[in-house]
Parts: sequence; C-alpha cells; structure tokens
Amino acid sequence: MRCHLIAALLPLVIIAACESNKQYGPKPKRDNNSRSPSSYSTPSGARTSTSGMLRQVNLRRDFVSRSFSSMRPRYITIHSTQNYTGDAYAHARALQNRALGRIIWHFTVQDSVAIQHMSTNKKGNHADHDGPGNKHSIGIEMCEHRGNNRERTLDRTAKLTAYLMKRNGIPLNNVVPHYHWPRWGKHPPNKNCPHFLMTNGRPGRKWQAFKSRVAHYYQTIG
Ligand SMILES: [Zn+2]
Repeated sequence: MRCHLIAALLPLVIIAACESNKQYGPKPKRDNNSRSPSSYSTPSGARTSTSGMLRQVNLRRDFVSRSFSSMRPRYITIHSTQNYTGDAYAHARALQNRALGRIIWHFTVQDSVAIQHMSTNKKGNHADHDGPGNKHSIGIEMCEHRGNNRERTLDRTAKLTAYLMKRNGIPLNNVVPHYHWPRWGKHPPNKNCPHFLMTNGRPGRKWQAFKSRVAHYYQTIG
C-alpha cells in the first residue's frame, strides 16, 4: 500500500515543485490571511520563550541524508508549494527519495505541523539557482493541498519565521518572498511565489499583513 501511495504522490510533487511556473488544480477559494492582530493565535502582550515558540510550531525533524555546503543564514525566503495534492509528509518523502533532483529547502509547513528537511546552517536550492537567495537564505514552503487550512498554515509559518529570526539574528527586513530573488534566465525573473500572498504577482497588502503577523510573534518571544 505504501509503495502505491508514494508512486501516486511523487509525480504530483515533482510537477508542482516551486520552481515551476504552472498552476495545477483548482485555485484556493479565497485569501484569508489579512486578519486583525486580535485574531492571532497568541494575543498581544503574551510572552513566551524561544523554546516555547518552537513548541507552538510543532516541529518534526526528518533530515535528508545528503551532504550540503555550509551557510550562515541571513534571510528567510517564503514559498508555497503550488501542489494541491501533496502534504508536508509527501514533500518530506519526495526530498528523502531525491524525487525533486537538486531542489531542496529547509522546512515545509502545513496546518498541523512543520517538517524540517535539513539544517539551517546548510545551503538549500529553492530560490534562484546560484544566486544569493540560495546562498544566504532559509527556505520555507507552505503547503496548499486540499483540506489544508490556510489560516493555520500561515499562522504556523509566521511562528516558525519568528523563531528562526530570533535564533539566527535575522531582521524582519530580511524575511522575503521567493519573488524577492530574480532567477537568471527565467521569464519573468521574479516568480509569483508564494502566489497567495502576492498582489498582482508582487508583494503588496497581503505580504505586509503576513510580515505584521511575523512581527507580532517575534515580539512575543521574550
Ligand atoms: Zn517559491
């Protein structure tokens, strides 16, 4: 059963890897990420420790057994999978099985869990080939499979981002969408990713709302 399941999932993971510009499956019904601060899962004024924030993220580690170049992370790059079938576990299996070739990133987040695929001081390959996005940034993919709750996925991603900022001394200005890193030889060079946080294909109000959420959680870490 398990082999059949993997065989069924892998092609979908492959075609929907974030480097692709194509859209597959129905688009998400609506954006739901510009709530007021009062709707955040941790209220203003609450305080937690760095490890307390990590517990809220519900992080699982499933490191791929490959060697990577070293990196000192200076940025955090946010993506979405554009895969309406594969959940975080399917992406973890695909990375373990090298089904995505050289493509690799650090974390995949869905509504219930975040999975870490590689150390944050190792260089991934998720943003801009040999560019600074890959050389200096931690890559986070947000899941979009059917049935996954986007609001909870965004909230967990914001908490993970705040935790990583604190752990690595990364400022909010260096939390960027994949769009931020032009890809040499691609048209357009700046990818519409994460597409559901972009406005007309570029950062706008929805991206700012996400960054406000990250800032909110960062401020709760005492
Ligand atoms: Zn991306």
